[in-house]
Amino acid sequence: MLALQGDVREHVHALEACGARASAVRRQEELDEVDGLVIPGGESTTMWKLAVAFELLEPLRLRIKEGMPAYGSCAGMIMLADRVEGGAEGQQTLGGIDMVVRRNAFGRQVDSFETDLDFAGRGAVRAVFIRAPWVESVGTDVKVLCRTGSRIVAVRQGPLLATSFHPELTGDARVHSYFVEMVREL
Ligand code: GLN
Repeated sequence: MLALQGDVREHVHALEACGARASAVRRQEELDEVDGLVIPGGESTTMWKLAVAFELLEPLRLRIKEGMPAYGSCAGMIMLADRVEGGAEGQQTLGGIDMVVRRNAFGRQVDSFETDLDFAGRGAVRAVFIRAPWVESVGTDVKVLCRTGSRIVAVRQGPLLATSFHPELTGDARVHSYFVEMVREL
């Protein structure tokens, strides 16, 4: 778990429910230990600034480039996007997924909503959107896993997975188990 900021504890519970061992990553030595990384929801600009302050931005980019599996939800999705629309001044990401995400695309906090989505053929999962981004466009190597209306809200590119929504808040660990399987396969 990238534990700089965001809803880390909820993800840890979901990962443990899938039988995975979850540990907090705040330093490079901790990053070196993990087989895969979950990037939580929270605030992507704060997360970016903390990653710089903790000297983790470049080590994270390097691990992603080397093929470490990673899953980002909401702010974590923004962190995994190659390009961001509506970002803060100078906002940087880790990148890795060839997509453009639009930050706060679904509106403000009061516009947060929930819906059921078919996730990667695993049946309906409850999807909670909180000031969520959507995916504006994807490159040819990116697989779209789900949409709400016409909007892309979950994608995968090789070992990288991202959702606009927060499966860690629902007590349903199927998205996390999909990711844990990805880590085990690689
Ligand atoms: N709006 C937040 C951001 O831009 C993401 C919201 C979330 O993670 N729930 O980082």
